[in-house]
Amino acid sequence: HARRIEGIDKNIWVDFTQLAADYKVVNLGQGFPDFSPPSYIQEALCKAVNGGCSMHQYTHAFGHPPLVSILAKFFGRVVGHEIDAFEDILVTVGAYQALFCTFQALVDEEDEVIIIEPFFDCYQPMVKMAGGKGVYVPLRPGGKALTSADWVLSSEELASKFNPRTKAIVINTPNNPLGKVYKREELQVIADLCIKHDVVCISDEVYEWLTYDGAKHVKIASLPGMWERTVTIGSGGKSFSATGWKVGWAIGAGPIVKHLKTVHQNSVYHCATSFTLTLAPTQEAVAQGFQREYELFGTPESYFLQLPEMLNQKRKKLATCLESVGLQPILPEGGYFMISDISSFKVDLNDPSTQDEPYDYRFVKWLIKEKGLATIPVSAFYSPEHRKDFQNYIRFCFVKEDSTLNAAEDILRKWS
Ligand code: PMP
Ligand code: GLN
Repeated sequence: HARRIEGIDKNIWVDFTQLAADYKVVNLGQGFPDFSPPSYIQEALCKAVNGGCSMHQYTHAFGHPPLVSILAKFFGRVVGHEIDAFEDILVTVGAYQALFCTFQALVDEEDEVIIIEPFFDCYQPMVKMAGGKGVYVPLRPGGKALTSADWVLSSEELASKFNPRTKAIVINTPNNPLGKVYKREELQVIADLCIKHDVVCISDEVYEWLTYDGAKHVKIASLPGMWERTVTIGSGGKSFSATGWKVGWAIGAGPIVKHLKTVHQNSVYHCATSFTLTLAPTQEAVAQGFQREYELFGTPESYFLQLPEMLNQKRKKLATCLESVGLQPILPEGGYFMISDISSFKVDLNDPSTQDEPYDYRFVKWLIKEKGLATIPVSAFYSPEHRKDFQNYIRFCFVKEDSTLNAAEDILRKWS
């Protein structure tokens, strides 16, 4: 095998999704809704599928024109910068492929990429596959650390990681798994360093609509001097509760995005027709969804307002439950995950097959096998070198029906 895939064969989603399926659990693991997307977007998809021949043939290589047009209009308004639909946007197979194209296009051998921990796990293998080196800087819990806002970066520590080899920094706001929503001042510190050291910022914002208790999502691309050096990643699956659709995008200045297109046109562009078959109608449906959001933006009918309102109830419900059974949660300001401290929850983990694994991996496996509840170990969101220091948290997903959350609550209450 090629050196570039050395040591990245293990994948948390492959392993734990399989385990959850094997044991028929109540699933608060992998992050997907167990309820339907809004009906208007399902109708848009049906209409697109039945919309005649053109919906089933190749579309524009870098994004179905109605989709890039509305994304440009919609995000132009949000970011406060004119976006060119055909220069500044690349539509991809989920946010995953947008990230993959970005790293492949911008990172060279020996380049360093700063990654803030905890981070969505795929950044590390993707940087490695591009030949780069991940340089990690942790968010550290301060004070009582009861909410994700208490987890902060040290500006000095962050600054010390920038050097002439630094090519990019990856941020994720709202963050998966912690739920941190970076404040404008925190983003400004990062932006100043990017500008000072001529570094690109890759900003993963797939949960941008999901913020709670007045936390406000700020796009780093909207800060002065940052449009030119930021690639913003988004996801139709996350925006419209349709994760299986795998429609994502990268948005940024044309001179950067053109390199992402080079990767895309030489990889996925040559993929099987069936790929395009599924993608064109879903792109059309996501375009319709954004068109509707564009018209309803800021009104009570906007799904981007309704979804976080609904999720806020679920977030509180899960937090109350975890607190009452002694699994102290860190209340997230955004996203649809909540991490919880398992250190005072003593269980007898005597499964010899998991002896060599991190404590949280063993705990989660035990929870699946013995209690029928699936979650995700948080050390998976740390670099291999820091994983051992963060084995005391597990992640719960709350984008679930109340009946699913009730079933999880039953399990936790019976056992505690
Ligand atoms: N980034 C983050 C932070 C995620 O949680 C996910 C998982 N949805 C992705 C990217 C990938 O998104 P997609 O499903 O659109 O590929
Ligand atoms: N982003 C989702 C999560 O964090 C799903 C990840 C995946 O399926 N690869 O759970």
